[in-house]
Amino acid sequence: MLPHDVIGMRRSFHSFPETAFLEYRTAALVAERLAELGYAVRVGPEVMSMDGVRGLPSKESHQQAQEAARAAGASPLWISRMPNGQTAVCGDLKRGDGPVIALRFDMDALPVQEIKDDTHLPSLKGFSSSCEGRMHACGHDGHTAIGLAVAARLASPETIWRGTLRLIFQPAEEGGRGAQPIVNHGLLDDVDIFLAAHLGCQLPSGTIALAADGFLWAEKWNVTFKGVAAHAAMCPEEGRNALLAAAISIPALYALPRDGQADTRINVGLLHAGRTRNVIADEATLEMELRSSTNDGLKRLTSGARRTLEGAALTQGATIDIDVYGTAISAISDTSITERLHHAVLATKGGEVIQTWPIGGGDDATFMMQRVQERGGQAGYCLIGADLTAPHHASAFDFDESALEKAVDILFSFVEKTQ
Ligand SMILES: [Zn+2]
Repeated sequence: MLPHDVIGMRRSFHSFPETAFLEYRTAALVAERLAELGYAVRVGPEVMSMDGVRGLPSKESHQQAQEAARAAGASPLWISRMPNGQTAVCGDLKRGDGPVIALRFDMDALPVQEIKDDTHLPSLKGFSSSCEGRMHACGHDGHTAIGLAVAARLASPETIWRGTLRLIFQPAEEGGRGAQPIVNHGLLDDVDIFLAAHLGCQLPSGTIALAADGFLWAEKWNVTFKGVAAHAAMCPEEGRNALLAAAISIPALYALPRDGQADTRINVGLLHAGRTRNVIADEATLEMELRSSTNDGLKRLTSGARRTLEGAALTQGATIDIDVYGTAISAISDTSITERLHHAVLATKGGEVIQTWPIGGGDDATFMMQRVQERGGQAGYCLIGADLTAPHHASAFDFDESALEKAVDILFSFVEKTQ
């Protein structure tokens, strides 16, 4: 049921977006295809250690997502091997002696509502999201399709590469939570060469950045203010207003001073508070993220944000709990990888090559890069240019599909030509 061409695969994944740790249909289709191609496939607990993973969806969300995935044609057998959000898939193909080469592809979508508009290609061509409130708004549908297309080409008996090819399909890149359990399981420990790629990132179609820079250090927080409910007219003085504490904290967070030594970003993306109009709100939750170009910058930012949140809680006599829900670190591509990649690009139909381009955010593939580098391997992260209709994470996001084949060519050639 999954097409074999890269654009067809991308459209199939796009039409059924699944968010972090709920990528059951996507992962089951990936596992099935890799197995058909002759890869030794490991999934779920065979490639992930979930100790300490934050923010897993509820039991009911897993059940619903699994049911929906089965109804959408995913294999119940593969799904049964991915309990409790362990939706990572790894395919190994061994061809004699040689390096272990790992490529990482992320699979998750976002809780974003896709626009319905005939100028939007997914609407026009009938492959827009079939799931209310969820959307592939970052291009990970493309990444998954690229991974499977590369898998097929490298499995051909006519190829000459030698060693072990390891294709890692990662869940939950958004929020920075999916890579760490894979690293903790040890899946990167024997990797000699590692490469991850991202489409778009404001890089135009036909251009390849051999390395991404400007990965931001980040923390993702879930903040809960607890107050005391009270009648809003009869005895408001008995209440402790959690909603007001949260509301006060938000402009103060955005007003934290700029950092003289590092770039910083702060965003509150969600606020839930209160119960009804005539009750002093006893609970409020914020979902926010903090990022910086350096680890020290992030430390200064997080300590300022903690102080601000605690101060806002204090004004209302509320209490506060900060749950660090996800993290991201920076990483630098090894020159040996950017050089191999350059050769790989030259071996394809070409395109404009630039050395580095700012990613403008983060990617938890950096945890994988760090582990590979710590253990003596070489790691890199490249960007494949693709014209965008709207910025990443926007509801009108779409990318130029001609970038898919280009990416497949480059990654194929990266493995095939680096022997
Ligand atoms: Zn992304």
